[in-house]
Amino acid sequence: MNSIFNERPDRDRLPDDLTPVSIVRQGESAIVIAWSDGMETPWTAIQLRDQCPCATCREKKRGEQKKREEKGKPPSALPVLTDAEARPLRIESMNPVGAYAYNITFSDGHSSGIFSMALLRGQSRS
Ligand SMILES: [Zn+2]
Repeated sequence: MNSIFNERPDRDRLPDDLTPVSIVRQGESAIVIAWSDGMETPWTAIQLRDQCPCATCREKKRGEQKKREEKGKPPSALPVLTDAEARPLRIESMNPVGAYAYNITFSDGHSSGIFSMALLRGQSRS
């Protein structure tokens, strides 16, 4: 599982003095991360889940994109959701991994994503 870190280039690291000072829940499915420089980054569980950097999610995303391209469907086509996916997604827990990342557990049972501080800061948000 440590391969995630091997793939992370240094640009994913924030300056040493830029750290989260608090993570505040906004209801059950959103958080606001406050940073040491005074900036705040709001996230919903769905946004974070969508940004999940783990190999499984990256692979799945790539596969879905490919499928769309093959079918020539517009990206706005509504996906058919399973029961679990249709339920509001919640963030079950966030645990620090070293000083530079958080491991997030979602209510759909997914917990293999290691979110770098840079990602949480929104630097590489797409
Ligand atoms: Zn994932």
